Formats: sequence, structure tokens, C-alpha cells
Amino acid sequence: MSPRDVVVVGGSTAGATVLRELRSHGYDGRLTLVDPEPGTNRPPLSKAVLADASAEPSVLMDHTSLDLEHVRAVATGLDHASRTVFSADGGTHPFDALVIATGSRARRIAASGQTGEAVLRTVDDARRLRERFAEARSAVVVGAGFLGLEVATAAAKAGAAVTVVDVDPPLERLLGPHLASSVCQRAATLGIVFRRSGAELVGEPVRGVRLEDGEVLVADVVVSCVGDEPVTDWLRDSGLEIDGGVVIDDRARTSLPDVYAAGDAVVVRTGDGIVRAPFWANAVTQGRVVAASILGQPVEDPIVDHYFWTEIAGTAIRVVGPVPLVGDPEVLEDAGSGSGLLAWGSSSVVAYGIRRSVPKLRAALRDL
Ligand SMILES: Cc1cc2nc3c(=O)[nH]c(=O)nc-3n(C[C@H](O)[C@H](O)[C@H](O)COP(=O)(O)OP(=O)(O)OC[C@H]3O[C@@H](n4cnc5c(N)ncnc54)[C@H](O)[C@@H]3O)c2cc1C
Repeated sequence: MSPRDVVVVGGSTAGATVLRELRSHGYDGRLTLVDPEPGTNRPPLSKAVLADASAEPSVLMDHTSLDLEHVRAVATGLDHASRTVFSADGGTHPFDALVIATGSRARRIAASGQTGEAVLRTVDDARRLRERFAEARSAVVVGAGFLGLEVATAAAKAGAAVTVVDVDPPLERLLGPHLASSVCQRAATLGIVFRRSGAELVGEPVRGVRLEDGEVLVADVVVSCVGDEPVTDWLRDSGLEIDGGVVIDDRARTSLPDVYAAGDAVVVRTGDGIVRAPFWANAVTQGRVVAASILGQPVEDPIVDHYFWTEIAGTAIRVVGPVPLVGDPEVLEDAGSGSGLLAWGSSSVVAYGIRRSVPKLRAALRDL
């Protein structure tokens, strides 16, 4: 029997997808959203919003047309036996289906009590960074993943001398050596310098980093882009299986009956073990799977969608297929200077510095 009382905790990309999909597939029961914030579409935060204040409003979501009750408070606990979620405003929210979509928070590396570590996860973070980059002559970014390089791009374009520090080779864990090296060459044309080292934040408030060889890089702005941590602390005493994120199966079911989860808060149990892929497309595909599962409909979407995009040093990169991209690509279309449509075996296709829609990329992958 379909549930009549669905509670969704977290109303950004994953939670909003569940809410929209439930209503568009005819769910007419009660919908309660528990989230202290308006939903946020995060990818533009490190791109348009870091560059331009006028892009801020476009990232905020509006759920008002969905006929739901929005409880503007954090969820603080789950009692599965009584099928109840608790919120910090003293509210109790009974459900017969629960969706966990509390996302993740930026990982921090400051010492205990040390202030001034900048990160980028929220609109407020993006606003603060944009304002600081406008004044900064120098910036250090700790972490050379895609987020670190997007932030480094914004700082460099605002006029700062930027150093990116990482213990691993920049971008390789995600893009593999071929693309990583090409992207880093493009970043270098903006003056971005790469240092290979561990980094410890120094100063109170933070005003630089100490590298492993003892050298201290002092900067006007220091930003940590060192990954994220699923927000699961509110579920601590719930009995839910958590293993680096809420564990879900291919129907987005958790270990507790009638409890589903999606997005950055989850890890997926697959035949190959536990997978975590905190990308926008997965928040969407998993949100769709949750809605289908709740409604007892066939699940058509995969639980992990191998698609992500980024934009570094003015170069748009769209990847369809699993990463990292190991070895050299086959060039399917050459747009010059390394740009073009690239393929890694028959498993991954990349639009590198060229415009190509996702359906066209998926079609190119099928044709391989
Ligand atoms: C700056 C930035 C840039 C990115 N760029 C890209 C990109 O280019 N390409 C890409 O594929 N991916 C990108 N990502 C990743 C992508 O944005 C995430 O995968 C996606 O936002 C995950 O959505 P989510 O709904 O699971 O989580 P979130 O967006 O984190 O949303 C979680 C929601 O839960 C709420 N919440 C948290 N705790 C509680 C609680 N206890 N009670 C109630 N509500 C709670 C929060 O307020 C929030 O609304 C980027 C991420 C960031 C931060």
C-alpha cells in the first residue's frame, strides 16, 4: 500500500527531486519537508556565484508549488519504532515513509579552536569568498580536486596570485593523468601554481599553510577544499546502518524498513562493495529512485549515474562514464589544443573544452 505520510529531511538537490517526483507521479498524501534552509543548487556556487553576486538568487529553490509543509528546523533524531522524526524546534513528525537527504558538510582541517578556515559549501560561504577574493593579492587553496581548482580559478580571475597545495597530483584521482595534466597546464596560464605536499593551516586566525618541508606560504585568503563529510550525526541512535554515509541498495532503501536515502548523505552497496559518488547527477538519479521505490513503481534509473561536470580555468569538462580515466584517450573529434570529444575505451566519453549535451554524450558512448 502506498504511504500517506512522507517526511523528507533535507530539501536541496536530492530531497527536492524526491518531492517533485512524488507529486508529479500522482502522490497526493501528506508531504513534510524538514530543513532549516531553502534548498540550494550547489554547483554554481563555485562557478557563477564566486564570480558574480547577481547569480546568487538563482541557486535558491522554491518548493511552494508542491503543497507541502516546510518545517524550518534541523532534524535531531529518528525513532524508527514509532516512525517519528524529531526536530530542533521541538517538533515531532510521524511518517510512514522517510527520506534522508541531509547531504554533506565541507571537511575541515583547522586545529581544534583555530579560527578563520574558509570552506565552500553554502551560499554564505560563496558570498564571503567572493568578497575576500575581490580584495586579495594572494590565495592558497588546500586540495587539488575539482572544487579546489574551481575555487583557484575564481581567485586567479579576481586578480590573486594562487597556489594550490595537495599531497596527491592535482585532479588525477578524478580525471586520470592525461586530462589532469592538460587541465593543470590551462590553470597555469592563469598564474595558478601547484605544490605537492601535505599542508597544515597556520596562524590565528588562519593566515597561511605550513608545507611538509617546513616552508610557510602566507596568503590573504586560505581555502580548504579537502572533501566533504555526510551529515548523519542526527541519525546516531537510530539503528540505521551507516558506513561513511547512510548505506542504500539499488532501490535507495536503507537498512530500516520504509526509510530511504539519496544524495551526498549516502553510500551505495554494490556488487563491488561500498561506493560513494557525491555528484549532482547522483543526487538527482537517487532522488528519482527513492520516489519510484516509495510509490512501488518500477525503478528505471541506475542508483549511480556516472556523469559529472566541472569548469576549470575557463574549460568546461563533461564526463559520462566511470572515473578515473586511466591511460590515453582516443580522440573522436579534435577541436585543437587538446580540446575535443575524447573516449577512454568503450566506458567513458568526455567533452573537453567543447559544448556537447549530456544526451549526445550518452549517445556517443553507446556508439563506441
Ligand atoms: C561548491 C560546490 C560545487 C559543486 N559543483 C559540482 C559540479 O560542478 N558537478 C557535480 O556533479 N557536482 C558538484 N557538486 C556536488 C553537488 O552539488 C552535490 O552532489 C549535491 O549538492 C548533493 O545534493 P544533496 O541534496 O544530496 O545535498 P546538499 O546539497 O548538501 O543538501 C542537503 C540539505 O539538507 C539540509 N540539512 C542538513 N542537515 C540537516 C538536518 N539535520 N535536518 C534538516 N535538514 C538538514 C541542508 O540544509 C541542505 O538543504 C558541487 C558541490 C559544491 C559544494
